[in-house]
Amino acid sequence: MRLTCREAIARMSAFLGRELGPVDVARLVLHLCTCAPCRAYLRTLRATIRIAGRAAEVEMPEEMKRRLRAFLSERTRGAK
Ligand SMILES: [Zn+2]
Repeated sequence: MRLTCREAIARMSAFLGRELGPVDVARLVLHLCTCAPCRAYLRTLRATIRIAGRAAEVEMPEEMKRRLRAFLSERTRGAK
């Protein structure tokens, strides 16, 4: 069964996040092979995620910041 463009687009973020099952991946790839607009959409989505991914690397998670602060205050207390 062929995916519609709507269904293909709905699966793309899961596909890029490697959360899609092998059957869905195959169906999506099959759709992309025959559908230029969806290929263009996937390319845009992938570029957007790459930019967002870089931003996420720079931004430290709140939990990590909290642990780091606790660790540092522990260390500086011990050094006195
Ligand atoms: Zn399509």
